[in-house]
Amino acid sequence: MKFLIMEKVCFIQKNWLSQKFANGISLLILIMVINLWAELIADVPQVVIVHWNDLHSTNLPYKSSRANYRVGGYANLAGYLDSLRHLHPQAIILNAGDDFQGSPVSNFTRGLSQILILNKIQPTAFTLGNHEFDYGIDNLRDVMTYANFPILNSNLFDSTKNDLLVQPYTIIQSGNLKVAIIGALTGDLFTLALPQNLKGIGILDPLTQIRQNVHEVEPQTDLIVLLSHCGFEEDSLLAMQLAGVDVIIGGHSHTYLHQPKKVNNILICQAGSNGHCLGYLKANIDRNQKIITSYNYELIETRLGRVKPSPVVAGVVDSLEASISAEMDKIIGQLITDWHRNSHGESNLGNWICDVTREYFKTDIAFMNSGGIRKDLKAGPIRVRDLWEISPFDNTIVIVALTGEQLKFIIQYHVENLRDLLQVSGLSYEFNSKQKKLVKLTVAGKPVDDQKIYTFATNNFVISQFERFFGLAPSAVKITPTDIIGRDILIEAIKAQPVINNHTEGRIIDLANKKEEVNYDIQ
Ligand SMILES: [Zn+2]
Repeated sequence: MKFLIMEKVCFIQKNWLSQKFANGISLLILIMVINLWAELIADVPQVVIVHWNDLHSTNLPYKSSRANYRVGGYANLAGYLDSLRHLHPQAIILNAGDDFQGSPVSNFTRGLSQILILNKIQPTAFTLGNHEFDYGIDNLRDVMTYANFPILNSNLFDSTKNDLLVQPYTIIQSGNLKVAIIGALTGDLFTLALPQNLKGIGILDPLTQIRQNVHEVEPQTDLIVLLSHCGFEEDSLLAMQLAGVDVIIGGHSHTYLHQPKKVNNILICQAGSNGHCLGYLKANIDRNQKIITSYNYELIETRLGRVKPSPVVAGVVDSLEASISAEMDKIIGQLITDWHRNSHGESNLGNWICDVTREYFKTDIAFMNSGGIRKDLKAGPIRVRDLWEISPFDNTIVIVALTGEQLKFIIQYHVENLRDLLQVSGLSYEFNSKQKKLVKLTVAGKPVDDQKIYTFATNNFVISQFERFFGLAPSAVKITPTDIIGRDILIEAIKAQPVINNHTEGRIIDLANKKEEVNYDIQ
């Protein structure tokens, strides 16, 4: 028999779509009775887990890249949760972290928006992701005091209180089962978050910490769930080395697992990202052996319009959006010539972004990957929101120092291996894309001196892919990170110089086609 939880959910929701409330309620009761009856007949203890991860403050529905309908949005996602809770009142609702960072409302409220929304959703537990640290540890401590749901982690040590940062686990009653949920975060935290955001925080080995907590909860529970923000690969490695854990509900790697991956008898689950899907696990448990004997799993796409969005959550989401809209819609400048992107050559928008960044950091050169520039802008007023849409990622700027010889090498490598073309400032080059050859390179109009040290500013995404962009190991150059977000510089630059009229000027010339500006819509 094909198992389709969404058929049940949609059946219930037909009453909402057709507005036949009385009929709908009796249908709902009927389905609940059938459901309970089926589960009682089976007489097998059962656990239902509904989970998501890496929502990244995508609080509003958005168009799925694979289809022409909208998905996600917290009010809609909460509507799905409401329906599933109707079917399974004992359902365990889990969020595997990285709810912060990804839309303006999270930045403006420094993550509090997500806590306030989750307060209405009432997850059974939430585990800390690396992005929860993006606004600093003091801020995180502060916003966590607003949470009325358990926030778990077993491997973060807070030296200011000489104890774990938050509670390592929670034990809950789900139907007739006692279930422990243990939180963990990847040991890579210090390479993922800025050191100044982690003052006083130590990361402990996840495996050791999980083992210790499993040992503690095992005698009191029927089932142990690890709520992990370690990523799919690390979860698989952990599973190989863990005993006692039954399920890993994961996050961090944004992995879509249409069925759980079974490693060492542990079911590893993860539900993509951005609220696109909810994971749904229904498992039968053998209470004596404390193991899962059988299960069904579905990744439910949170397509908009199939269930009634939660009015309570919609209220919070909307009021948070309203609170920032005045700031977002503020007009800060005037654009005279349309801004265009171009991922095959120079663009006037790429030039402007690189110029502003180079001037701010007083470097010789600036680079920006074309794929990180996400929107064209028509001539007219420039609003704060436009800059957030052009540059939605909270990438920080990094300064690199290298020799002229290395500079020649990286530009030659870049033209030979063109993927995501770098927009430039301070530097011009001519190349032949057919011959994959660099023909001419100048910095500030002068030939490059092999011995001289040059500096460039770029974003931390480009740095994270240093070898792919430049063909050099990052250790070959001097890299100095800053905590300044690229977009903040752009907004300040417009405020300081509000009338902008810039063009392409032959910084990047492909001699093979001599097309300097091709308008190309990057998706
Ligand atoms: Zn993460």
